[in-house]
Amino acid sequence: MKKQEYKVVILGSGPAGLTAALYASRANLEPLVVEGGGTGDPTDVPGGQLMLTTEVDNYPGFPEGILGPELMERMRKQATRFGTEFAVGAVREVELSSRPFTLTLEEGSIKAQTIIVATGAQARWLGLPEELDFRTKHGGVSACATCDGFFYKGKDVLVVGGGDTAMEEATFLTKFASKVTIVHRREEFRASKIMLEKARRNDKIQWLTDTVLEKYLGGAGKGVTGAATRNLKTGATREVAAGGIFMAIGHEPNTAIFRGKVELDPNGYMLTKDGTTATSVPGVFAAGDVQDHRYRQAVTAAGSGCMAAIDAERFLSH
Ligand code: NAP
Repeated sequence: MKKQEYKVVILGSGPAGLTAALYASRANLEPLVVEGGGTGDPTDVPGGQLMLTTEVDNYPGFPEGILGPELMERMRKQATRFGTEFAVGAVREVELSSRPFTLTLEEGSIKAQTIIVATGAQARWLGLPEELDFRTKHGGVSACATCDGFFYKGKDVLVVGGGDTAMEEATFLTKFASKVTIVHRREEFRASKIMLEKARRNDKIQWLTDTVLEKYLGGAGKGVTGAATRNLKTGATREVAAGGIFMAIGHEPNTAIFRGKVELDPNGYMLTKDGTTATSVPGVFAAGDVQDHRYRQAVTAAGSGCMAAIDAERFLSH
């Protein structure tokens, strides 16, 4: 790091963090972006969840689509152009009891007059063999129907999970897929009654309860072709054909270091106030998926990153 104290430190380098950096740097706030990553987990990479996707067709301004990693590279270049500084690695600890705040990074500690938390959230995955390959290389396994549903026109797909996200994603996927099967590990559903009923009324949706996935079928060149499943009550195993498998088993916001320091909701998402990005701690702002379990889109994350930089700038000028 070039300095001991920064006006704005942004945690996270996904669309929210990099858009916050773009706006903060253009406001001459010389922000530092702490990029994250470095845990050794292959899915924990700077740039956020888009680094793990292929084609992004729903980010405005790219009529031909753009690869997720390329989109992030472009955002990064744009933020760098106006003087954003980057530090690699995750923040280990934050001290928010007095301003300037203190952040402990891998390379030592720094002070920050304001912090923008854009650490994102991670989709939960099943942890089956070759899962990362099916997500990133072979194709066919996804955790975002809104992003990828379009590619499954006329195919049979599976949606794993029994909560509101599973109902919502399954219902959305019926616009494209010929058949959507919800695979849930229990017979009772966690989803709200209204969303469950809506899915039940949709005749393109089928149900496979008390069932778990044990293995993805398919591979390089073919993508996913189905899954080996097991019924938890009878123990019976079978292979279910599918051209796509969508995970809807929840998300985890990356807020562990803020627990007990910034107000979080019961699921760990950071709470923001009155349509702004302000958190319960004055001078700490939150943007992107870390504070949003509803929309979770690159473009909404980027939008809230812009809001956070404007909120931080106004906070500093008072
Ligand atoms: P969720 O409510 O936590 O549901 C996750 C589902 O995945 C559960 O049915 C769970 O099964 C299953 N699951 C978890 N781990 C699993 C595993 N390893 N293997 C197989 N199944 C597994 O998550 P969510 O559906 O993403 O919803 C999160 C929050 O957002 C909720 O508060 C929800 O109401 C809200 N939400 C609201 C809307 C809306 O209002 N439009 C839309 C989406 C989400 P069990 O039931 O057996 O635990």
